[in-house]
Amino acid sequence: MRTAIVILYALAFVSPAWLAAQQPEFKVLAFHSTKVERDHVDFSKDVRAFFTALGDEKNFTFDVTTDWTNLNDTLLRNYQVVMWINDFPHTPQQRKAFEKYMEHGGGWIGFHVAGYNDKTTQWPWFVDFLGGAVFYSNSWPPIPARLIVDDTSHAVSRRLTPAFASPVNEWYQWRPSPRENKNVKVLVTLDPLNYPLGIKDILTGGDTPVVWTNTKYKMIYLNMGHGDRVMSDYMQNNMIADALLWIGNHKNLAK
Ligand code: ZN
Repeated sequence: MRTAIVILYALAFVSPAWLAAQQPEFKVLAFHSTKVERDHVDFSKDVRAFFTALGDEKNFTFDVTTDWTNLNDTLLRNYQVVMWINDFPHTPQQRKAFEKYMEHGGGWIGFHVAGYNDKTTQWPWFVDFLGGAVFYSNSWPPIPARLIVDDTSHAVSRRLTPAFASPVNEWYQWRPSPRENKNVKVLVTLDPLNYPLGIKDILTGGDTPVVWTNTKYKMIYLNMGHGDRVMSDYMQNNMIADALLWIGNHKNLAK
């Protein structure tokens, strides 16, 4: 009884401002898969550890699941950001729930395979969501590349130098380039100086955006996500952090 009184007494001095500070700024639900390419699992492990630590520092909740049936209306209602790490929903139900979530102002950040789509994917809504980008080609084996920053003032890319060396990754190219969509803002692009890029599979030329947002939605796609070296660059990690914070914190569509 005495303990209870002491606690009540202590609570009386807790200010609402202090309580507010303990509320997470936003909640993220990250989806990933374990039965995929080893290099994709490795990146997933690294980036999840990165965001777990960042969540403690920046006061957001970072929940993780491998169960893609969690991509449903009931659960998504609790989250401001959905993250896909190296996979995407494969059933009509999951896809519908995601479409509804995004059309109603939800936030999304996707890495690497998250954006993959080809003629077998059969999800036109998602192609439009990505800004029209359909997977066209990739570099192989994984290799570092020089990247150009299209906008050094944007919240996501402002901590990058105008050009930088990005760690080993598998680079995807898209046809058409999402840059051709007037709603797309490209933030980072593969430097044409890299061409020819690859040995077995070679990117020989063309426009290759690697980070972009479709301003019709609260979304950002990053091509990074292959292997255990991606998270080894401090400056690029700042961009990856800022990408999530930008999606999580912007209450309205920032264009
Ligand atoms: Zn890959």
